[in-house]
Amino acid sequence: MAIDGVRRWERRLFIDGEWVAASGGDRSYLVIDPATGEAFAEAADGSPADVDAAVRAASAAMDDARWLGIDPLERSRTLHRIAQLIRERQDQLADLMTRENGMPVSFAQWLEIPMAADVFDYFAALVPTTGGRTLPFSLPGPQGQYLLFTLKEPVGVVGLITPWNFPLLMPAWKVAAALAAGCSAVLKPAPETPFTALALAEICAEAGVPPGVLNVVPGGDETGAALVAHPGVAKIAFTGETATGAKILAAAAPDIKRVTLELGGKSPNIVFDDVPLEEAVSGAVFGVYLNSGQVCQAGTRVLVQETIYERFVEALAERVRQLKVGPGRDPATDVGPVIREHQLRRILGYVETGTREGARLVVGGRRLEALGPGYFVEPTVFAGVTAEMTIAREEIFGPVAAVIPFRDEAHAIELANRTLYGLAAGVWTRDVKRALRVARGVRAGTVWVNTYQVLSPTAPFGGYRQSGLGRELGPDALEPYLETKTVIVDLNEEALRFF
Ligand code: NAD
Repeated sequence: MAIDGVRRWERRLFIDGEWVAASGGDRSYLVIDPATGEAFAEAADGSPADVDAAVRAASAAMDDARWLGIDPLERSRTLHRIAQLIRERQDQLADLMTRENGMPVSFAQWLEIPMAADVFDYFAALVPTTGGRTLPFSLPGPQGQYLLFTLKEPVGVVGLITPWNFPLLMPAWKVAAALAAGCSAVLKPAPETPFTALALAEICAEAGVPPGVLNVVPGGDETGAALVAHPGVAKIAFTGETATGAKILAAAAPDIKRVTLELGGKSPNIVFDDVPLEEAVSGAVFGVYLNSGQVCQAGTRVLVQETIYERFVEALAERVRQLKVGPGRDPATDVGPVIREHQLRRILGYVETGTREGARLVVGGRRLEALGPGYFVEPTVFAGVTAEMTIAREEIFGPVAAVIPFRDEAHAIELANRTLYGLAAGVWTRDVKRALRVARGVRAGTVWVNTYQVLSPTAPFGGYRQSGLGRELGPDALEPYLETKTVIVDLNEEALRFF
């Protein structure tokens, strides 16, 4: 995107429908293009006072029902308009995301932006279907006549906190659900990708979301912490690292805030020896190197049956050597830079640890100095990895595959479950019964059979164990944004007397 495109969002927060400067002296920070390592714009750094202003604006919007009071079909149409505007601005958004996050523009255009639009369409469809139920009533003793029904009400002001790896999609999942439920929201995007979130706010306002209903306060971890601590916030929806999720859960505990968490992973991608090698290798490459491996559900533990292990490693290495690493704006790029210098160093640290602990570095493992000062790292494959090694246990969040051999189905399931996480898994086999047994046996929120990474707005997404709490997307995705109120009406002529 031409730099001018972001100028209107520079040093700006979006509060109560206004583009305002951060309080306390116009605080700001530099936003860096990962492909060059250079700053390209300045973002406002929201303070706790700004968070407070945003929460107050959101509370006022809840109080006068300026959003919930609109006819549900019109609210639904508003979400459809957001979807439409996202589609119309696809090129602009793709350029922006590539600049902020480094992701290949081809990927942004193919998946992230169209899916973000689809997510708004999906939640738009849920709006007019959301309601309570009438239920039978039962009381010990003589009952008489009662009417029992439930109402679904928005939980209140929600705090949405998102990571940088999918700068549009992560905010979209949460904003669409919050708006569909009738909540007001304060979005705190990742400090690395503030402008995509502000672009979404602009789109929502243009589509007709009233002022104060969606507020965006860019800033760092302290800004997020201020949002979690704010007494006016009823619920936090967070996506990010498991360690951050644990802090948020603890910080939300004193006021019993509702919390949903989408956290990290170390997902297994299991390859049996009856599947065409080329197909499984392709699936593994897609599972590991998409978005430079900066994907929560990345299939970075590639479990391969020992009968085909060496052939698989060889074929995988060959495919990985062919991946074109480069700046995201080059349409031929397969793998862009990683987000920041410190993340690149962390990845190289894992490469060192893997080698030291006895894994075999087959391909990659170095910084690509030839591409300049941007944060480019070679797509990497480790073979001879055992389940105990650090690179098989910890989330690297970079383009690094750990290929682990297994003997048989039981061994594959045992290895797959040897993790603290449980976000996703893949299984590749032609044997349908085995595929379904493995799908049942693996403890993960999503299991793919003969594919990997594919998501749908209709598919509940979330993690078992330390990969999260609750689900986003799918038919029940509004539940965490709603409270259920039970109404019991005594229809008898005489009220029940207790004493
Ligand atoms: P992160 O946890 O460092 O930051 C995420 C967000 O939380 C940022 O906006 C950050 O400013 C904010 N934050 C940090 N500390 C906070 C605190 N104490 N209180 C409130 N907010 C705080 O994560 P990241 O590095 O931006 O993202 C990468 C991580 O996200 C990976 O672990 C990845 O697996 C995970 N992720 C998970 C999913 C999923 O759906 N499960 C999707 C994408 C990314």
